[in-house]
Amino acid sequence: MMSCAEAARVMSDQLNGAAKNGMRLRLRLHLLMCSGCQQYWKQLTLLRRWLKSGRLGQVSPAGREPLKLETSARARIEDKFQAELHRVKSD
Ligand SMILES: [Zn+2]
Repeated sequence: MMSCAEAARVMSDQLNGAAKNGMRLRLRLHLLMCSGCQQYWKQLTLLRRWLKSGRLGQVSPAGREPLKLETSARARIEDKFQAELHRVKSD
C-alpha cells in the first residue's frame, strides 16, 4: 500500500489533473483503507469545489446574512490552497 505522504502527493497531482491512471488507482485503494486520508481528500475536494464555484457565501449559518467574499479574498484563499498543495508535494 502506498504511504500517506505518497497518497497526499497523488491527491495534489489529481487536483491539478496531473495524476497518471495507475497512481489514481493506487490512491483509490489507499483511500479505501485509510480513514485519515479519506478525510483529507474530502476536505481538499470540498474546499476546491467551493473555491471554483464562487459560492462560499452559501455556507453561512441559516438565517444570517450570507458571508460575501471579495474576489481578492477568494484569490488569497486559492493562493494559500495552491501553496499548501505545493508544500505537500515537495515534502
Ligand atoms: Zn493514508
